[in-house]
Amino acid sequence: MQIKTILNRVQKFKSFVYGAVYWVEGEAPPILHVELHPRANSRGVCSGCGRDRPGYDRLPTRGFEFVPLWGMKVFLVYAPRRVNCPQCGVKVEQMPWAAGKHPLTTAYAWFLAAWAKRLSWKEVAEAFHMSWDAVFGAVELAVAWGRAHLDVSGIQSLGIDEIAWQKGHRYVTLVYQIDAHCKRLLWIGEKRTVKTLLRCFRWLGKERSQGLRFICSDRWKPYLKVIAKKAGQAVHVLDRFHIMAHLGKAIDEVRAQEVRELKAQGEEPVLTKTRWLLLKRPERLTEKQHGRLAELLRHNLKTVRSYLLKEDFQFFWNYTSPYWAGRFLDQWCTRTLHSKLEPMKRVARMLRGHRELVLNWFRAKGQFSSGIVEGFNTKAKLTTRKAFGFRTYHALEVALYHTLGALPEPKFTHRFF
Ligand SMILES: [Zn+2]
Repeated sequence: MQIKTILNRVQKFKSFVYGAVYWVEGEAPPILHVELHPRANSRGVCSGCGRDRPGYDRLPTRGFEFVPLWGMKVFLVYAPRRVNCPQCGVKVEQMPWAAGKHPLTTAYAWFLAAWAKRLSWKEVAEAFHMSWDAVFGAVELAVAWGRAHLDVSGIQSLGIDEIAWQKGHRYVTLVYQIDAHCKRLLWIGEKRTVKTLLRCFRWLGKERSQGLRFICSDRWKPYLKVIAKKAGQAVHVLDRFHIMAHLGKAIDEVRAQEVRELKAQGEEPVLTKTRWLLLKRPERLTEKQHGRLAELLRHNLKTVRSYLLKEDFQFFWNYTSPYWAGRFLDQWCTRTLHSKLEPMKRVARMLRGHRELVLNWFRAKGQFSSGIVEGFNTKAKLTTRKAFGFRTYHALEVALYHTLGALPEPKFTHRFF
């Protein structure tokens, strides 16, 4: 069987035929060239308007990198025709194996993009002897196609989150669809301002924004404002994950302060290396950590009192009735406000100030996938952390859409991946 025969099976182009296949001598890894020719009597298609037009001239032969075979790099080589288009002028013809001026064939770009979901871009570049930029270009292409073909119908629930990047100096706003039937990263915007979220609603459109039923977010002020204005009909829920994150942060603060105090008094550092013990759920601790936590809890420390308040607050989420949950919330807040633990009191004041939004959690119960924002948050942070190569916001956006966007892909006659 000839390589041409295989190619005609996996990647056939209507108006083009495969020609000679030959080695390029002296290259490592070895390179295979596959010639492409226009079918006899066919006319080139204008890349401007998409119609076939009379020929003008031919450009020098170019290589388009294709999916590698048996450890060999493969290039389709072709001398593009230029057409004389009465509408667009002299134009290079459309070539169905490549997009615009892209040096990779579309098939190879999708192949690399698929690998880039499993490995870091750097690893993909190394594995296939490509540059980092080439891998980025491939992923960019896949993301652009996926975003252009996104189905945004039937969205009912959104989760809004923000993460820091570039060593915490900059923020991005992430908007997730959190419906039970479809969970994905829907939209990304630079910063976390009123303008950022307004852009998201503009992208979504008025009709779809007004079809939303639930929105889960943090109580970040600009978000509250925009949500009330653009999707006032939706039940706005202060997200469990964000509330618990505020409590975690408060404990961290109490602990840091107390460590300083204890050190100043020259007391034994009971609090060193306890951060994770206090932040993790007790059921997720190892046996050894359990022992250390039990030991720590015997001390009458501010940190311990904060920890107990946080653990007590976990009971809040077990309620089903907003009424009883509300009673619990009020009692918890009263107790915390008497605690003299300033960071904890701040959280209590925040919860009290947004009482209705907090209780919406119970009004919306079961209507959206509740743990999902937290799961996405972890994955998004992982993507940004792996992303030391992403110097630009655009690259970060491409990476996040690629890993979390659940983007559609075109239907291929043959899947190379
Ligand atoms: Zn044209």
